[in-house]
This record gives sequence, C-alpha cells and structure tokens, in this order.
Amino acid sequence: MTHRIIVAGPCSAESREQVLETAAGLAAEGVTAFRAGLWKPRTRPGCFEGVGAEGLEWLAEARTVYGMRIATELNNARNAELLLKAGVDIAWIGARTATNPFDVQEIADALRGCSIDVYVKNPVAPDPALWLGAVERFERAGIRGKLGAIHRGFCSWEKDIFRNTPLWNIPLWLREQRPDLPILCDPSHIAGAARLVPHVARMALEVGLDGLFVESHCNPAEAWSDAAQQLTPAQFGTLLREIEPNR
Ligand code: PEP
Ligand code: MN
Repeated sequence: MTHRIIVAGPCSAESREQVLETAAGLAAEGVTAFRAGLWKPRTRPGCFEGVGAEGLEWLAEARTVYGMRIATELNNARNAELLLKAGVDIAWIGARTATNPFDVQEIADALRGCSIDVYVKNPVAPDPALWLGAVERFERAGIRGKLGAIHRGFCSWEKDIFRNTPLWNIPLWLREQRPDLPILCDPSHIAGAARLVPHVARMALEVGLDGLFVESHCNPAEAWSDAAQQLTPAQFGTLLREIEPNR
C-alpha cells in the first residue's frame, strides 16, 4: 500500500523555539513534512497576522535539523521569491486566496517553471469549478513540483459542531475530473476543535482521500492562532498510528 501524504505543524510559526520544539515532536512521531503559516489570513483585523519572512529561517532550520520537507502558505506573488530562496518544498494556497482567480494567476505566474510543490485549498465557498480552475492555473504555469488539493471545508452561515462544513461530494467530484491529482484533507480547519479532528480525519480516509494536512502545536492552549483545533505532536502520533499502523 502506498503511504498517505501526511503534513503536520502549527497553524502559525510563532518563535524559533516553538517551531523547533513542534518539529522535534512531530519528527519523533514519524512525520516527514512540516507546515507552519507565516502570513496569516485573519478574517478580521486586530489578530496576530503572522511573523512574516523572519520565520522562513526557522522553517529552514527545521528542514536541516529534522530532515523534514517544509510547507508554508504563499499568500501573494511578491513572496514567491522568498519561499523559493528559503528552499520551501511545498507552498499552499489558502482558502481565501483560492477564491480570487487574479491572485491565483499572479502567484502561478510567479512560480512559472519552478520546482516547488503547490497544494491548493478549496475556496471558502463551495464552488468546485473555482477550485479546479485554481489547480489548472498552476498546471498551465508548468510548475515542476507536484500539485495537490486540500479539502478544508466550506464557510456556512448555519452553525453546527464543525467550523467549516465538509462536503465530501466536492473532493470526490474533483477526483473524477482529475484522477491523478492527490487530494488531502485538512481536518483541523473542518473540525475547529481538537477533539473532533480524529473523527474528520477518519471520514476523509474512509471516502478515499490521499492524506492529511493537520495542525499540531507543542502547546496548543498557548497558540497565537487556532488554539482550539491544534493537536499536540503526541496526540497526532496516536492518530497516525491508528490510520497507518505500518508507517
Ligand atoms: C491554515 O492552514 O492555517 C489556514 C489559514 O487555512 P485556510 O486557508 O484553509 O483557512
Ligand atoms: Mn489555522
């Protein structure tokens, strides 16, 4: 059986210590790709908006020390060069950015022909063609890394126990359009609560998605963003052993 794609790490990079402690914990659980956001797309102003380019050095250190691939959100075309210089392996396109074809096209142009993997989150609204269109913009730009998609749920006015509603028919539709495209699930932004993350992760794998993109923090209660939904590395390790006993 081929291994699932697993990416884990904090919502936001906060300090060198927090990045390295979280990376150490996840590496010990067998995680080989580490995520951390540097430019944070906050819904409303006045919240922590990320440490920015400074954090690239901390991610690069995690890469060197633990041999992990590193992933961060590429929020606009201006920052593309910074990510490429820092040796970022995976750039993800956030759910808010993915809603805007102008932004997506600018980012795709900035990465034209580059060797970096690009994972495109679903747009915040359930518009499957907009999601596929964003993926196609990167394909047409001839990205030499791998492309992937991430189901992170959709915004809804109706509130239920989840923060962002999963609509499994939409990633399954995407799979029918593009059978070769790996589709991951971000159970953290769907669940919105750490206790629900394992349930969402199991659902995603049950419907046949290819991996998980999960938020994990060395001290979730003190996290500067998305504190409620982050697992400790040990909690994530327990989930990982359940879903991939032979990892
Ligand atoms: C994130 O992954 O930290 C993030 C901001 O995700 P999204 O774009 O899915 O809200
Ligand atoms: Mn987050």
